[in-house]
Amino acid sequence: MSLMFSGIGVSQGLAIGEIHVLRRDGFGVEARTLDKREIPDEVRRLKRAIKAARTQLRATRDSIPKDAPSDVSAFIDSHLLMLDDNALSQTPIDIIKSEFVNAETALKQQQQALVSVFDAMGDAYIASRIDDVNQVIALMLQALSGGIDPLLDPDAWKGRIVVADDLTPSDTVIMQNHGVAGFVTEQGGQLSHTAILARSLGIPAVVGLQNIRKYLKNGETITLDGQSGLLVAEPTDAHLRESRNRQKAARKIARDLSGLIDRPSVTLDGISLNLWANIDVDDDVKSLKRVNAAGVGLFRTEFMFMNRENAPTEQEHFKEYSKILRALKDSPLTIRSIDLGGDKMAASLHNSGPMAHNPAMGLRGIRLALNDLSLFVPQLRAILRASAKGPVRLLIPMLTNRAEILQVRTLINDIKLSLDEAGLAYDPNLPIGGMIEVPAAAIAAPSFAADLDFLSIGTNDLIQYTLAIDRIDEQVHYLYDPLHPAVLRLVQTIIQTGREAGIPVTLCGEMAGDPQYVRVLLGLGLTEFSMPPNLLLAVKQVLINSKVSRLKSQVQKLIHAPDVETQQQLLGVINKSAEPQKKPDSGKTAATTKQKPKPKTSKTSKMSKKKAGKTGKTSGKS
Ligand code: PEP
Ligand code: MG
Repeated sequence: MSLMFSGIGVSQGLAIGEIHVLRRDGFGVEARTLDKREIPDEVRRLKRAIKAARTQLRATRDSIPKDAPSDVSAFIDSHLLMLDDNALSQTPIDIIKSEFVNAETALKQQQQALVSVFDAMGDAYIASRIDDVNQVIALMLQALSGGIDPLLDPDAWKGRIVVADDLTPSDTVIMQNHGVAGFVTEQGGQLSHTAILARSLGIPAVVGLQNIRKYLKNGETITLDGQSGLLVAEPTDAHLRESRNRQKAARKIARDLSGLIDRPSVTLDGISLNLWANIDVDDDVKSLKRVNAAGVGLFRTEFMFMNRENAPTEQEHFKEYSKILRALKDSPLTIRSIDLGGDKMAASLHNSGPMAHNPAMGLRGIRLALNDLSLFVPQLRAILRASAKGPVRLLIPMLTNRAEILQVRTLINDIKLSLDEAGLAYDPNLPIGGMIEVPAAAIAAPSFAADLDFLSIGTNDLIQYTLAIDRIDEQVHYLYDPLHPAVLRLVQTIIQTGREAGIPVTLCGEMAGDPQYVRVLLGLGLTEFSMPPNLLLAVKQVLINSKVSRLKSQVQKLIHAPDVETQQQLLGVINKSAEPQKKPDSGKTAATTKQKPKPKTSKTSKMSKKKAGKTGKTSGKS
């Protein structure tokens, strides 16, 4: 009997494999009161568990491939440090001795105490570490139960689809190393750093399926569509056949698409386009080269700040940017200054004040950078120094007003003077661009444009702030609508502003990498698209088979569509109007799946099961 589940597809691709359920959380902890004579043995048991957890973490670190991003092993190092901290290595022993309880109970007590202390502090750094503390304690509990981490057993992973409560970025890299076919998590949203890494590494993934582990068993076959977010457990033969055919078709499309690598990026009516790549870690440059991208349109530097105790130094920034520039040869590198805060927390933020009540609207992006120059200035100095080594552009995230640009310009001018004094080289004309991702900035863009050298539209946030929906909240995911007329009008305004000011406009939100939407953007006048490298050729194929002259009027009709049905119909026309487009993965489109909220049950509030379009188990057909 097939079961269908609908989650959030965060990394496209169709995977078929056996389920491997990971249970690193929720070990049944049996509370036991001890006799005084049992205490020394129990203390020894806990010490052995700490040792086993340490051995396991070290082995995990050693299994990380050499070319994995450096923050992956830094992440494991931070867990090792935590394990050695008195709060985890000594206090639970004190609890065993003073309260005569077993090691598991002592650990659980200490976990609760730590979590409530952390909560009460309301500190952004601490908040970002609660997950780490929980993960280390889960590992200790697992060691107490005598379990071994499946991460150490590569054969258990190969070709499997891993189902977990949550995964860390280092898990994600290790899984790729061990040939995992895909993963599903109960937690997480489109923009968790695990999801972003899965996209970079090309692992099909679906997240946000709360309680999914209750419904899936080890060894069952499952299909996972990382684009539509659809899972089918115990699929029928017909569904399996169809899925295998889709995989084959996707492989063929990928082969065909590789023929486009050296084709000029020009539309059928002769409009030249710039197709850039978004990168999250330096390693992504390799895939960018494989698709011949124009350069890096967005380097999200946040990852450099994650999984470490302190912010990167100027020299670390400089080394990282120089490394990417070397790999890029002469292609431009657009470095976005830190866009931390909101959903992107980092340990190194611990000096940046208490956690905001509503982080997405709090000290985020340029606000946070200007508020904590100890994070910002070393980065700006490194960006300027790197600009002497190759074509660099600086991109400022989350601009809301002109004063922020002027503050950045003042800082840059001061840094230039100090670099002059130190005899360090830089590009005096370093282009400075602004991310337009707040509706106020989009509307007021004409008053900013003269102060900027380029604009970059961040539709991920522009949609979040325009439609008032949290981009990582899976409960309102169905409202995340890139075609909402308000969003299209704002995008149009920004493109128009750039044109009038004579400065380039790139779009670097996820929308630029979605073949469904790129003709709409083209019809709005966009000519520069920046996207994850693995999507570039599929997007290129659509764009070079398009006629801008025809799209313009169709897109205006789309903006004025009175309802969702008309909108979908017009989108169909737009996507048909030139040569037939092929997609590397023919799952459901984001546009069609997002229109209806999925039925939800109270127990599985963030998960929906479908039966012939409704909730429930299917009976043999899927
Ligand atoms: C965006 O907001 O569209 C964007 C590209 O930035 P990020 O997703 O990193 O916020
Ligand atoms: Mg953004």
